[in-house]
Amino acid sequence: MSKSTHVINFGAGPAKIPQPVLLKAQKEFLNINGTGMSVMELSHRSKPFGAILEKTKQDLTELMNIPSNYSILFMQGGATTEFASIFYNLIAAKQQELKKQGKEGEEIVVDYLVTGAWSNKAAQEAERLVPTIVDNPVRINRALDVKKANGKFGSIPPQTEWNLTDPSKHNVAYVYYCDNETVHGVEFQVTPHVDPSVPLVADVSSNFLSRPIDVSKYGIIYGGAQKNLGPAGVTIIIIRNDLLVDLNVGPVRPLMLDFKTAADNNSMYNTPPTFAIYMVGLTLEWLLERGGLTEVEKVNQRKAEKLYLAIEQSSLYKCPVEPHSRSHMNVVFRLPTEDLEKEFLKGAEERNMQQLKGHRSVGGIRASIYNALSEEDVDALINYMNEFEEKHKA
Ligand SMILES: *Cc1c(COP(=O)(O)O)cnc(C)c1O
Repeated sequence: MSKSTHVINFGAGPAKIPQPVLLKAQKEFLNINGTGMSVMELSHRSKPFGAILEKTKQDLTELMNIPSNYSILFMQGGATTEFASIFYNLIAAKQQELKKQGKEGEEIVVDYLVTGAWSNKAAQEAERLVPTIVDNPVRINRALDVKKANGKFGSIPPQTEWNLTDPSKHNVAYVYYCDNETVHGVEFQVTPHVDPSVPLVADVSSNFLSRPIDVSKYGIIYGGAQKNLGPAGVTIIIIRNDLLVDLNVGPVRPLMLDFKTAADNNSMYNTPPTFAIYMVGLTLEWLLERGGLTEVEKVNQRKAEKLYLAIEQSSLYKCPVEPHSRSHMNVVFRLPTEDLEKEFLKGAEERNMQQLKGHRSVGGIRASIYNALSEEDVDALINYMNEFEEKHKA
């Protein structure tokens, strides 16, 4: 590869895939595991694909230390589809529980922590679907809405300031939050503390496998692959088994949104996204070779710390996110004017640093520094930032 085509991809998603993963996929592209066929040409019910699926589940279990009372599901439709699936499946689980307790028909409450664009969209979807639940009144409680409280996203207030529903007084179906807000560059530094009777749900689409996480604290952990895990097309759900309920219990829901149908069929009720699952599998192998998530976290911390330090030490760049809520995956910052931001992006592209533009809804600069980006990649960005600042000193 010539130097002029070496690109550093800071895109938020679809994002950079580790080069060893791409090279392995290239090597196996026409002939996977001696089958004489491409992985894309294998039946999803064939032995060679079955082996890939099982290995992918095993490696994910090992990397995340997933307890045996959880299931791993490979779904389609992106994380956005899960906004609806989670609502329907966990309302069903709550209705089943209420029936057992003789509390049919009582109000069900759902708590959402809204800290950025993605948790806001998830809450909106739940709010939209409330009228489709016929057996119980359902109330969506925005236990936290940072934009409503502060006029903008960019911080996560301490839990003492949240308005979580008391599960000893109400029937709480779940507490939902987005662990890392990809657009606003906001990340939870600690797992929210919820009553053990209430399932905690986390969208980890953009910080999946960036650091160790205690799965046992969660009812559901889920995320799309195309940020930190592989190509677009597959969404991974890790769900505690007691939350899987029969299709005939709870709200009517499309088969393809039903977690128990997926679990009972080992994610093969219909044709799963075989190539995307294979690519996720290669990424998991790469993470294991690097020493697992404790090692990965160390590198990610160094990358984020040096980039935030460069911003702090500069008089040109400003990070709009409050220091204790900053993402170690999506680093957002601003320059004094939009014209300077344009010039900054133009100069970056001339240096083959791609996709640094902030999300269209917020503008500014966003450097997504997922697992696939090396410390050297971040160093290159910092060097350019320093050079650009030097040039624009008054
Ligand atoms: C990208 C993203 C989504 C949406 O993913 P799609 O696959 O486009 O549906 C949801 N949540 C977070 C945190 C994301 O980064």
